[in-house]
This record gives sequence, structure tokens and C-alpha cells, in this order.
Amino acid sequence: MDYIVFDLEWNQCPDGKENEKHDIPFEILEIGAIKLNSEKQEIGRFHEYIRPSVYPRLHFRTREIIHIQPELLRHADPFPAVIERFRKWCGEDARYCTWGALDLLELQRNIRHYKLPNFFPFPLRFYDIQKIFSLTYEDGKSRRALEYAVDMLNIQKDIPFHEALSDAYYTASVIRRIPDEKLLAFYSIDYFRIPRKASEEIFEVFQTYAKYVSRKFPTRPACMRDRNVTSTKCYLCGNTAAKQLPWFPTGGKNYCSLSYCPDHGFLKGKIRVKKTEDNRGYFCVKTLKLIDEERARELQERYRKKILKKQAPAD
Ligand SMILES: [Zn+2]
Repeated sequence: MDYIVFDLEWNQCPDGKENEKHDIPFEILEIGAIKLNSEKQEIGRFHEYIRPSVYPRLHFRTREIIHIQPELLRHADPFPAVIERFRKWCGEDARYCTWGALDLLELQRNIRHYKLPNFFPFPLRFYDIQKIFSLTYEDGKSRRALEYAVDMLNIQKDIPFHEALSDAYYTASVIRRIPDEKLLAFYSIDYFRIPRKASEEIFEVFQTYAKYVSRKFPTRPACMRDRNVTSTKCYLCGNTAAKQLPWFPTGGKNYCSLSYCPDHGFLKGKIRVKKTEDNRGYFCVKTLKLIDEERARELQERYRKKILKKQAPAD
């Protein structure tokens, strides 16, 4: 299986947000990619510019960040032709890697805008190297600029940043320094397309937790009434873990629960209700994680303060 490490440069509406096309806030102008084999040796490069058709003028920010000659864009092919060559170049069996999760989102938005088939597999597992860098070298929460990672890992800076191919090249250099067991364990799931029906729902077991991605629901409350969403089966043995605390709101769009598996102990459940990308519905991402007794007690305390206190009659 090859790694496809890619980076995009894009433009946005030069006449302000109110004039942008909502289905394509960012129009891709350049694709750069490095192909690595499973040993992480470079075996190919892809680099093309794209002739813009949605926002033909460059936003001043775009001009500041990226340094593309306007003639290069004028003489480039339109998006559909370039993306077809990119698709063929990627091959069937690819692990997609990017710095952050935005590139995959904007690429799929551009594909949809041109009514082209979305060629990524479903569900789409991908490697967010910005996140994996943090999980490997920092606290797992930080999100650093690519250049920061390059400096920290003593990678030679011999080409400029903010060009699609060189950013892909640097991202590939970071990938080479991440041990395989980290890289492969910490993949992400893309939420641009979500399951269309219950049988397509995603359930993945990671090293220390399990993740479930639901189908679409019309409203938030409808999500929380669904049995697949609220189930707290133990992800290690499949047994139903008895609820110690019901799903309760913890602020924002999140819910927590506590369950107990007789064989594996306490399970903390967390549900985030998210808007679908088209803003026409909701879906849930649920994680279940084994926690120790102390963490379980903390969760019980949180429930007591948040829920029971509210229900208690005022003095
Ligand atoms: Zn269990």
C-alpha cells in the first residue's frame, strides 16, 4: 500500500465572504503530492496547477501566502482534467496523508462542485500528520505549523514553504520520522460523507478506545433517541455494559455516560452531535473508552453537580 502525501493551495472569494459560493468557499489552484511506498521511500511526484473558474481573481491573502504566477494558472487545465490525472496517479490502494484535515475537506468540496464522482473509498480513513505529529512528539492536542515540525525534527529546509509540492515533500519527511506503530494506529475518519443508512454506520476499535459514526438524523433530539447512537456495548467483548449513568449533556453539543462491563470495567461514553457538511441534518460521533475507578468517580461527581443539583428543589 502506498502513501499519498498531498498538499493543496487554494484561493477564496476576492470580494468578501458575502459573495462567496457556499458549496466551494475555497477553489483549489495547485496540487502537489509525493508517493511513498510502504517502506516510506519516495516513488513518485505529482504537481499541477489548476485554471480557476469560480474565483478567477486572486484574494489579496492568497497572493500574500502563495506565490503562483498568474500565467501559470491561465495556461493550466481546469479542475476536472487535473483531478482525473491525480486520481489515476494515486492508484487504487492509497493511504492519504495531509498536514491537518482541511485539504481533504476542500478537495471533496471542489470535486462535488464540479459534480464529479468522489473517488475516495468509504469510509475514508486518512492520516492527519499534524495530529499524529502531536500524538507522537507532543501532548496530542497541539496543532503546529508544518515548519515547526520540520525544525523540531531537524529536517533540512532547502525549499520554500507554502508551495504545494514542497509542503507535501516536508510532510513526507515528517512521516518518515514517525514510527509505523504510531502512524498506522492514529488514523482519522473523514466526515465529509457520512453513512447513508444504519448498515453503513462506522464502528472502529483503536488502541485505547472505540469510535462510532452514525447516519444522518433530522434533528439533535432524534440522534439521542436512536438505539445505535446510545448503545454502550463493551468494545472489547461485545457484551452489553450496564449503565451506571445515563447519557447526560456536558455543555455544548456533547453528552457523556458511564457503563460497567463485568469483564473489563468502567466505560466512559462520549457523544458529539455534529452538523452534516451540507447543514441539512445531524450525525453523531461516539467514543467509548475504558477508564479506571478514579476517573469513573470523577464522572459520577460531574453528573451529580451538573444534573442532580439542577433537579433538586431550591431552598
Ligand atoms: Zn467487556
